[in-house]
Amino acid sequence: MELHYTGEVLCAKHFTRKFWRRVKRHLSKEGLITSGDRVGIGLSGGKDSTVLLNVLHELFSRRTDISLVAITVDEGIAGYRSPSLEVARRACGRLGIKHVVISARDEFGRTLDEAVRIAGTQEQAPCSYCGVIRRHLLNVAARRAGCTKVATGHNLDDEAESVLMDFVRGDVNKMMRLGAKVGVRSFKGFVQRVKPLRLIPEKEIALFAILNGIEFDPAVCPYSHLALREDVRDAINALEVAHPGTKFAIVRTADRILPHVQKGFFGAVPQACGSCGELSSGPLCRFCQYAEELDSMEKGKKKGNGGSA
Ligand code: SF4
Repeated sequence: MELHYTGEVLCAKHFTRKFWRRVKRHLSKEGLITSGDRVGIGLSGGKDSTVLLNVLHELFSRRTDISLVAITVDEGIAGYRSPSLEVARRACGRLGIKHVVISARDEFGRTLDEAVRIAGTQEQAPCSYCGVIRRHLLNVAARRAGCTKVATGHNLDDEAESVLMDFVRGDVNKMMRLGAKVGVRSFKGFVQRVKPLRLIPEKEIALFAILNGIEFDPAVCPYSHLALREDVRDAINALEVAHPGTKFAIVRTADRILPHVQKGFFGAVPQACGSCGELSSGPLCRFCQYAEELDSMEKGKKKGNGGSA
């Protein structure tokens, strides 16, 4: 593997050694997982989360003061989530890690596919629904499983994209929540999120999986082409080719600036959602708002169909 951003060319052995060194250093420097933690690992079955599952199992499974549980959110995307769910089940079975599955159909009242059928893809991109549903359900499942942390498989590419996306959308609130440890820790019921792989480029996570025989589902979500993230990814990849190290530079710059900005930033005061009790920036959380909006859109459509029949 040639690491263009450092100029190194590494054989499998040295690549793997460097990978472990970087993950361990990031975990300990940021204090992401500590004694007493019960860690819920967000496991989709894709490469990032299955590598994360294997990495955390290797590092912590022999520790008696730290425990792991895997959590898969089934958003309800036909033909996409079922195969990856099977990969996730097999991975947990092999490693002996408890696996919890939480579904949008049960908790949100409808699958993502159903939400997209009702709302279309113009007004609200599927990823907007999906992101809110996943974050909400991951927190609910983690809390039910008694977790003190949720670890997600975000990689360097994801993080660089998130920084630029927040700029492009002008979403300052979201930008303030970027970093290795995410979220409002002061809110009871919110399980803090940590990202152990956030300084590893996506390609290197894929290579680590292949070199270590880690099974993962390579499928791409059928809605991904509709996401802003896709355009931002293309732009960053083009910059990375022309200027190696761009992704690291974007994330490091944000990491250096944000702590200073966060101190003086007064966003919405966290409060409990009036309907579900989860963390919210207003009287109703986004998850419940979406559920209500979809209910009324569906009713409107049925009325319209009834009128024209
Ligand atoms: Fe969800 Fe969008 Fe990712 Fe598909 S691409 S899994 S809809 S966030």
